Amino acid sequence: MNIDTLRSYFPQLKEKVYGKDLVYLDNAATSLRPMTVIQEWEDMSLKHNSNLHRAVHKTAVDATDRYEAARAAVAGFVGASCPEEIVFTSGTTHSINLLAACLEHSAFFAPGDEILIAESEHHSNIVPWQLVSGRNGLKIKKIPIDSRGEISLQKLSESLSSRTRLCCIAQISNVLGIINPIKEIVGICHKNGTLVLVDGAQGIVHLPTNVQELGCDFYAFSGHKMFAAPGVGVLYGKKALLEALPPYMGGGEMIESVSWEKTSFAPVPRRFEAGTQNISGTPTLIPAIEMCKQMRDSEIEKEQDAVKAYVLDALSSSPDITLYGNPEDRTKKIPLFSFSVAGAHHEDLALILDKMGIAVRSGQMCAEPLMDRFGVTGMLRASFAAYNTLGEAEYFVECLRKAIKMLK
Ligand code: PMP
Repeated sequence: MNIDTLRSYFPQLKEKVYGKDLVYLDNAATSLRPMTVIQEWEDMSLKHNSNLHRAVHKTAVDATDRYEAARAAVAGFVGASCPEEIVFTSGTTHSINLLAACLEHSAFFAPGDEILIAESEHHSNIVPWQLVSGRNGLKIKKIPIDSRGEISLQKLSESLSSRTRLCCIAQISNVLGIINPIKEIVGICHKNGTLVLVDGAQGIVHLPTNVQELGCDFYAFSGHKMFAAPGVGVLYGKKALLEALPPYMGGGEMIESVSWEKTSFAPVPRRFEAGTQNISGTPTLIPAIEMCKQMRDSEIEKEQDAVKAYVLDALSSSPDITLYGNPEDRTKKIPLFSFSVAGAHHEDLALILDKMGIAVRSGQMCAEPLMDRFGVTGMLRASFAAYNTLGEAEYFVECLRKAIKMLK
């Protein structure tokens, strides 16, 4: 695979903004979609549209087969032990809320229990747990990060107590771009009898992930960040754990039988998939997974390493730039760079870069506690995907320097 071929699969990369070539560096918010995904989406809408798991007619069977093929593909991709461990949701946020609701209703938590959450988490891995905690008298403890953005396993161990029921942590923070030592965290937590939920929204895109190797109990991610259609997500859970959870939403297709006297529920994972699912979007996970696999190619990875080294050097050598998420060991970092510039507001910089054709994110990035940790109101973030080139990285740095000059 060479980078030009890879780029040719993504039609939006040919778009112009304000007459300039689009340089899309907002991949951590959502990725672009390859033609294979768009075609699958279109195909499902044009030819195979039918509700799932219900009717016996050919079109319904085809749509259901495609949906279940996506489940099998996801199970294989993340190394689940069987497809039943894959629950389809609308995204990471939905996956985490689903888990939070199910744990709450299964009496998993007792008043006084603790949930451990990393300081660098996205709001979607904080707020659902705050809601559950508020209703059930639980305590939330944070796992602190150091000034480089790294988690100390020592501090994690010290934060655990006999009441810690769950640890919630991202495989990679959407702000810091640092790969957290999930396997080690899981080892420490499990020794304490604490379950681990991994937010894999960023990790699934950048790391070959095997949930059994990681050992985590639950793993959540979104399709739209890994090149699939929006509105599709996954909650992986160990089968025995999922089977112990009650349903959280009632409706069609999540039941075994319904009567006024007694209703019984479908086995996992359909127990958690009430109502009509994302018929056209879910099967796009199949070509999206194929795309992720194709991106794990030595040529593409070489370009990504060059991008990372170039941008890291450029940003960390500028005295007026503060980079957040700067691990000593650069192999722990993905090409995602959040930073602030002394004397220049992140939003002004983002607006100027936009006029130069560069799409970057500015603001709190759904991680307000992390902004507080670093004492800033927001940051600028450039997040690269495998289809971004070193040439684009150089153009970004050049334009950033120009934008800073304009504001000073
Ligand atoms: N967690 C992380 C680490 C993320 O980056 C995001 C998206 N920015 C989410 C959770 C939420 O994902 P979604 O909006 O797709 O539910």
